[in-house]
Amino acid sequence: MQSPQNIRVHRDQRILELVWQAQDITRLPFQAVRQGCRCAVCVDEFTGRRLLDPDSVPADLDVLDVSLTGNYAMKFRWSDNHDTGLFTWDHLRQIGEQLGSDAV
Ligand SMILES: [Zn+2]
Repeated sequence: MQSPQNIRVHRDQRILELVWQAQDITRLPFQAVRQGCRCAVCVDEFTGRRLLDPDSVPADLDVLDVSLTGNYAMKFRWSDNHDTGLFTWDHLRQIGEQLGSDAV
């Protein structure tokens, strides 16, 4: 799994930017990252059913804190008081791919 060379949190634009390589950058709105959360509160761990209502995530969601977990994932503390999700690099890439390259 490739780690990003650089991670930028643009709180003014509410964008998480992951720089994999010079021409390979994933830009994710905070809201989309939060909606993709796969923690036990957001997704049923046995059935895989999504418990989180995506519409409940506010568009003006903010990130209060960001931390790295080892060299394979990152964690966020969101302004809606959610902080249990762990996002691996592959997962963040997937969220970006689902959004499409022109989403931001
Ligand atoms: Zn979650």
